[in-house]
Amino acid sequence: MASSEPQNSLVKVDNLTVRFAAKNRGRRSYIEPVRQVSFDIAPGEVLALVGESGSGKTTIGRTLVKVVEPFGGHLYFDGRDITHLGSRAVRSLHSEVQMIFQDPFAALNPTATIQEHLVLPLRVYQRVPSTKLNLRVRELLEQVGLSPAEELRHKYPHELSGGQRQRVVIARSLAANPRFIVADEPVSMLDVSIRADILKILRNLRDSLKISLLYITHDLASARYLSDRITVLYGGQVMEVGTSRDIVKNPRHPYTRLLLAAVPGREGDLPQASEAAPDLSVERQGCPFAPRCPYTMDDCRTGDIPVRSVGSRHQVACLLEETDKDVLASAP
Ligand code: SF4
Repeated sequence: MASSEPQNSLVKVDNLTVRFAAKNRGRRSYIEPVRQVSFDIAPGEVLALVGESGSGKTTIGRTLVKVVEPFGGHLYFDGRDITHLGSRAVRSLHSEVQMIFQDPFAALNPTATIQEHLVLPLRVYQRVPSTKLNLRVRELLEQVGLSPAEELRHKYPHELSGGQRQRVVIARSLAANPRFIVADEPVSMLDVSIRADILKILRNLRDSLKISLLYITHDLASARYLSDRITVLYGGQVMEVGTSRDIVKNPRHPYTRLLLAAVPGREGDLPQASEAAPDLSVERQGCPFAPRCPYTMDDCRTGDIPVRSVGSRHQVACLLEETDKDVLASAP
């Protein structure tokens, strides 16, 4: 049954859990790549989901564009419950919610021109009349810095560079005139030299078009540049939430500090713990970061890890916040 939410957030993820079937030594079992994750995104706000591979960030993005079905919890868009939708309602949602994929080459049809890629969403979602399609295509290409538009519109994806292809993917998402975009590692497969340009385009979507963004990345530095707030994930669970400034300048969770230590120029902030893939089994207990954490206590492995407020918009899921607040401060 549909329910409604207050209108102060455009996107609300409430206690989301995703469960997949998996095979373990030939026997059927289940994993939970996302467990009880909650966050919201205001109109025109950029929220970054930051974490390593296996953190659940891409799966969360896919639930919001209705590619992955939630196992538990609720998803809301503009006050509407979109947790479970039929195919017609999903098509309708995609006029307001779009996704930018990590691999721009795989996201484009190699047999279609750039013009054809942009005309389709203009027709389907915006019902732009044929007489105005060329004009709108040119406007979209110019909006993402692709010029000369008249020349580029007739090209095929293989004739463009990686950066140009990602601009086309962004233009295609804009053709639907969305209010919310999920951008899944949109610069990770691009040359370092053009990443900044793509991030600038995404920031411009927020500043000039007031589009809300969920920016999915493993890179805290780009999250700091692009986002208003950051949610740090590990093993499918939220570790820390705060403004981008608080997360980068005043990280409280050991995992956030580990991520920051990987940012060039910040090496050495924390002793490198041994890496291990997070346990995503349904049976897991305690803090998912315990096998890598330098401060693990007995209770970390078995107990519930409560989320504590450590500032007006800053929350941390770590038992250190209950025991000895000076431990992190005195860390090497
Ligand atoms: Fe480390 Fe325990 Fe905090 Fe988890 S709850 S991050 S294991 S101290």
